Amino acid sequence: MIRFHNTLSGREEEFQPLDPGEVRVYTCGPTVYDLPHIGNFRAYVFEDLLLRFLRYSGFKTVQVMNLTDVDDKTIRGARASGVSLREYTEPFVRAFFSGLALLRIRPADHYPRATEHIPEMVAIIKGLLDKGVAYRKDGSIYFSIEKFPAYGRLSGINPDDLRITSRIGARLESDEYEKDSARDFALWKAPREGEPSWETDIGPGRPGWHIECSAMSSKYLGPSFDIHCGGVDNIFPHHENEIAQSEAYFEKPFVRYWLHCHHLVVDGEKMAKSKGNFYTLRDLVEARGVDPSALRMFLVGTHYRKVLNFTLESLEQSAAALKRIKDFVYELENRIFPAAKTDASLDLIACAERTFREGMEDDLNVSAALTGLFDLIRKANPLIQGKKIGLNEAKRLLDFVYRVDEVLAVLPERRDLEISDDLRAKIEERERARKSRDWAAADRLRRELLENGVVLEDTKDGVRWKIEKKTGSN
Ligand code: AMP
Ligand code: ZN
Repeated sequence: MIRFHNTLSGREEEFQPLDPGEVRVYTCGPTVYDLPHIGNFRAYVFEDLLLRFLRYSGFKTVQVMNLTDVDDKTIRGARASGVSLREYTEPFVRAFFSGLALLRIRPADHYPRATEHIPEMVAIIKGLLDKGVAYRKDGSIYFSIEKFPAYGRLSGINPDDLRITSRIGARLESDEYEKDSARDFALWKAPREGEPSWETDIGPGRPGWHIECSAMSSKYLGPSFDIHCGGVDNIFPHHENEIAQSEAYFEKPFVRYWLHCHHLVVDGEKMAKSKGNFYTLRDLVEARGVDPSALRMFLVGTHYRKVLNFTLESLEQSAAALKRIKDFVYELENRIFPAAKTDASLDLIACAERTFREGMEDDLNVSAALTGLFDLIRKANPLIQGKKIGLNEAKRLLDFVYRVDEVLAVLPERRDLEISDDLRAKIEERERARKSRDWAAADRLRRELLENGVVLEDTKDGVRWKIEKKTGSN
């Protein structure tokens, strides 16, 4: 049974999708006004972990991640650079996608861009005007939070408690604001000199940030869906406003489970593009030679609802943990295991698998989940050294590690342990030759194996093999 901490209720709840077998997820994507930093990638890696775990648990998933390519910040950036919005945002869109690939984040099913969904936004705004929930003022259109009594349910703010009753009817143009400014927010902004503007049924202008996500989520996932994610900074005002817009318009519950990851911080401060205290992937991977899979290990390794403090030392610790898993895989892939059937580690696998599943089912508690894997590595290693494990079991151990890696996605591609019986027999024959000190035969067999692409390495723990990659293809 999977349980998630739902921001809406403030507690852990049992997870049940609306349609059995399929989970529909919306994840707030990047505002493409600058290079993404690793704080942003913490959010995307957390969402990837969630989706991978849902699939590991047997669900089909549909994920939508929007690209905010029109808002206050992108417009400001484009104006300052004297280029069109499209020209300005494009390099940041590319950097975002290359970062996803580098961190092995599985692509979402849809990446809608705000600028390509203006008609969908206009339809909702029009509907909200018709229902009397939105109103016009000076060419802009605002959502009246007074007309939506459930306003504040997600973030816990209560417009009355905040002594802003007198300010209800006070309006906000800017896309982002602090909690104590819960006020009517802009759905549609009147055209301004030097800003992009669309001619639409509701008049000329451009959308506010929040309406983008209500329009794009309903288009691809329907008016009600299962999970909505983002960083905690999205809770207010962005997600609060999404709920208000979507539920007022569709008159249906919007989202069942809200999952928010905490921030990646540097020296206690949120890593943010606007603060300039950020590392991009390029800073770490290209300039400092950080291994992207170690970075991914660092980002997934801390529970998503905890603050994650970024330091180069903690990155090294994650790299060391990853190395322990990789060494174990190397051990299993490169040794010659006897063909004999054995089952010394079957209990260990069953136990580790249970620990992994139960840890992850508990609101994606990765560190608890991984204790099972590390325990297995500690106990299986002596069995391997003691030659108590056969080929069938080595494969089962690898099956398990790679099942875990479908969720973690930190290991190199799996190697095929199969080599032909013929080559296996030759390796064993060479072992016998070596033991009887028949060096000429041993060398001849090594050469023959090499001609077939099998490279042998003699170690103190016995012979290892690997298939040499064919070169010369380019
Ligand atoms: P933005 O590009 O600012 O719209 O943010 C894209 C995503 O990254 C959102 O889900 C944010 O909540 C998330 N995010 C931004 N900064 C951080 C951070 N320092 N740590 C974790 N997530 C963040
Ligand atoms: Zn959003």
